[in-house]
Amino acid sequence: MREVEAAVVREPGTHAVETVALADPAPGEVLVDVRATGVCHTDYHAYTSAETDVPIVLGHEGCGVVKAVGDGVSTVDPGDRVVLWVLPSCGDCEYCRAGEPYLCQARRETRGRMMDGTRRLSKDGDPINHFYAQSSFATMAVVPERQVVPVPETVPYPICALLGCGVTTGLGAVTNIADVDSGETVAVFGCGGVGAGAVLAADAVSAGTIVAVDLDADTLATMREIGATHTVEAGVDDPVEEIRGLTGGVDYAFECIGTPQTVQQAIASLGPGGTAAITGTSDTPPAEIDLGQFTSGISVVGNIVGFTRPRIDIPRYARLYENGDLPLDAVLTRTYALDELGAAFDALAAGDVIRSVVEFEPGP
Ligand SMILES: [Zn+2]
Ligand SMILES: [Zn+2]
Repeated sequence: MREVEAAVVREPGTHAVETVALADPAPGEVLVDVRATGVCHTDYHAYTSAETDVPIVLGHEGCGVVKAVGDGVSTVDPGDRVVLWVLPSCGDCEYCRAGEPYLCQARRETRGRMMDGTRRLSKDGDPINHFYAQSSFATMAVVPERQVVPVPETVPYPICALLGCGVTTGLGAVTNIADVDSGETVAVFGCGGVGAGAVLAADAVSAGTIVAVDLDADTLATMREIGATHTVEAGVDDPVEEIRGLTGGVDYAFECIGTPQTVQQAIASLGPGGTAAITGTSDTPPAEIDLGQFTSGISVVGNIVGFTRPRIDIPRYARLYENGDLPLDAVLTRTYALDELGAAFDALAAGDVIRSVVEFEPGP
């Protein structure tokens, strides 16, 4: 048992940094000195939702240094630099055994708990809920081994934090779901962490035309820096009209926001035989689709986290970053201290950042 500083949510939309207790890692778990963690819309949604079980410590895009390992842990050692992956997986169901951990339903069953149904966080003996078995808005975290991915020490912590969920989801949507070929045309709807990942990956696979769509002009300027050949300011111009005018309809549309409107736009921007990868949805209300478009041979595909296989894909992205082929620095807008988390959420809600990260000092 140790004391850690953690941002505890006790009522929706508010939090305070508190000193709380963190128990030792159980068998199959890893204790990590958290050094950075991304601030994601998934955190913000849970932060503001009345449905979230409080008290809870959010944070699910962490990274840091392994401090200790529980019994049976074999893939990481104390001192390793690690990315903390968002999705819990059991390792034993038919999906996990088939190498598809993103389809494992453990994440639904573990809500607020670790894989064994218990909690490691508490204050004065009262348990505090976990988030994605991670809770990395805290100076230390206990995380299941299957979510702890070693990366080279040359990758800076704030960059590691980008690889834990959002940006990796966008990268995976392009490389794992859509299989974009060089010269093909791509549109990306919404250029936060997920959309920026999609633009980066589309550029990395040499897509011919990459149209980035967002409400924010500064964000679009950054998208041009990282590979977008064209941009559409959604509040000013009609994205579907612009995209169809530029390309005649794209081969791939990546929806990275999760609103009914952007889902409709992504599908409507497709050319014959095109594919819309719906990547941003979570609790999205129903959307209307023009079914007549299906006679043009279009496909609409879903995914979660870009079908990322964390132990394969995250080290791959880390290598691309090290080689200069994945300019993730451009995606990192700002870093905050833990006691500035409220400001980080405000900036996220206002659409002022592509990705921001909470950074921590090294632990004792
Ligand atoms: Zn996330
Ligand atoms: Zn499983």
